[in-house]
Amino acid sequence: MTAAVPAAVHEEHDPQKPVTMFGPDFPFAYDDYLAHPAGLGSIPEAAYGTEVAVIGGGLSGIVAAYELMKLGFRPVVYEADQIGGRMRSSGFAGRPDILAEMGAMRFPPSSTALFHYLDSVGLQTRPFPNPLAEATPSTVVDLKGESHYARTLDDLPEVYQDVARAWHETLEQRARYSEMQKAIQERDAATIKEIWDDLVARYDNTTFYGFLCESPAFASFRHREIFGQVGFGTGGWDTDFPNSILEVLRVVFTAADDDHQRIVGGSQQLPLRLWEQVPDTMVHWPAGTSLVSLHGGTPRPAVTRLHRTAPHNITVTDANGDIRTYPAAVFTAQGWMLLSRIECDADLFPIEHWTAIERTHYMGSSKLFVPVDRPFWTDQDPVTGRDVLSMTLTDRMTRGTYLLDGTADGPAVICLSYTWSDDSLKWLPLSTDERLEVMLASLSAIYPTVDIRKHIIANPLTISWEDEPWFMGAFKANLPGHYRYQERLFTHFMQDRLPERYRGLFLAGDDVSWTAGWAEGAVQTALNAVWGVLHQFGGCTDPANPGPGDAFARIAPLELAD
Ligand SMILES: Cc1cc2nc3c(=O)[nH]c(=O)nc-3n(C[C@H](O)[C@H](O)[C@H](O)COP(=O)(O)OP(=O)(O)OC[C@H]3O[C@@H](n4cnc5c(N)ncnc54)[C@H](O)[C@@H]3O)c2cc1C
Repeated sequence: MTAAVPAAVHEEHDPQKPVTMFGPDFPFAYDDYLAHPAGLGSIPEAAYGTEVAVIGGGLSGIVAAYELMKLGFRPVVYEADQIGGRMRSSGFAGRPDILAEMGAMRFPPSSTALFHYLDSVGLQTRPFPNPLAEATPSTVVDLKGESHYARTLDDLPEVYQDVARAWHETLEQRARYSEMQKAIQERDAATIKEIWDDLVARYDNTTFYGFLCESPAFASFRHREIFGQVGFGTGGWDTDFPNSILEVLRVVFTAADDDHQRIVGGSQQLPLRLWEQVPDTMVHWPAGTSLVSLHGGTPRPAVTRLHRTAPHNITVTDANGDIRTYPAAVFTAQGWMLLSRIECDADLFPIEHWTAIERTHYMGSSKLFVPVDRPFWTDQDPVTGRDVLSMTLTDRMTRGTYLLDGTADGPAVICLSYTWSDDSLKWLPLSTDERLEVMLASLSAIYPTVDIRKHIIANPLTISWEDEPWFMGAFKANLPGHYRYQERLFTHFMQDRLPERYRGLFLAGDDVSWTAGWAEGAVQTALNAVWGVLHQFGGCTDPANPGPGDAFARIAPLELAD
């Protein structure tokens, strides 16, 4: 998300060495690993064709299945809902050609493993119209009933520049921001770890809000309030105030919030294309094999039961009552599924991992989209000479409104409201129509002369991820004190460290990622699980291209003492 306030924080980047999502917890170069001509490794021929269950057909599951197939395994994907999971692009009723991004919709170029796959399936990206971004014609910040129109940060009143400076100063003084970004640019894993391990030990118990309060630069309550309402990111970061500050530092250190791109044709195209794609290089399988051909067109249905069977197998029961047994399985759905919708054997994980799954904290998130006849927002108001409607950040119910043009004069889409946590819960009991009415009323208070409704050409689409039966939340967000849980879940793929009876089931996906809420983490953790499965079957990586498990001892995440 392009920063509404602290764009200045990123001015010193050396464009030759981009900041990427390299660490800070586990500084492994997933992008180099993927790009290397030696590939991700090889398995003994005896393992060719071995079935491996992949539970969840979101991005993580599809990446894991795709790479397992390339290695010669036979992945068996189970998906309860749609391929793509939280990369869900939905067409409007009667207008399936116009898409709404119900889940992930903007991707930082620092997501280099994600971009590897986008490139490999030939998907294009375009700048996403975030607040004050270059691609955004104009932005309105509307707080406490007062609106400001801006094209750049400099157009906003001085207090916003003060807040930007306060955030920059806080990051420098309390989190060694420039040092860390330089180390990430240089891919200097030793320095990254030295800085990060110190921050983890200092701040695991601190909320985002507490971190701000302890900063002299944020002594003013008003500054903290403005920062929360429109601060870094696309606004609404006050909904993250109760989360661990470590979650926020990961985002700013790795430029996850910068220079966002949208995927032309919709985010869901990525998992769908990987599902259909015939890889260029693959062992064992005949030419033309793809995930879709291995599955006869569709994945298997929802998993309803998971248990261990002798000698060291994972037995999976699905919604059709089909029972199948695998020597290995990769679980990529949200962890809460293991607590309710899937009947589980206690021996699936050690008790410490169960505790980590139980303590998982999700952010809720709601969105509502309407399709409109054209991108009318760049029409000029004859009196003010301004765009009639702008990307809008407000403390009203809508919080963030995004204007998404389509083709030149063709239809376009407005995300009338995008909210998280408590702001999302405010929408939960409201029907689609009730949501629409409240949103239009909020926006008409900001734009009294604009009739948005007259441009709407089909019914709205809305979602509250906390109400989706196969998700139960939008994405994980660790609370203070959760670092230990996160470390346990992320490192679960290093199964030689577990007693033998707990091996063979690998956790991957957004829940396990250090950067939950960013698709890059879903990809990275899929690659960890693939390495884990390869290792279990006696496979190995090429010495010229070591994998995450090979590098683990050198760059393992800090273990905090109990
Ligand atoms: C509102 C929202 C906004 C986001 N914005 C961004 C963004 O702008 N940029 C970004 O990079 N990332 C964003 N993300 C995060 C991104 O979408 C995720 O990181 C990524 O899609 C997660 O992929 P995954 O495969 O780990 O999980 P999922 O996509 O959740 O896949 C898990 C799959 O498991 C399936 N499943 C559940 N239970 C079962 C079962 N019992 N049996 C079989 N299958 C089951 C689910 O249906 C799902 O398809 C956003 C997410 C949300 C929700």
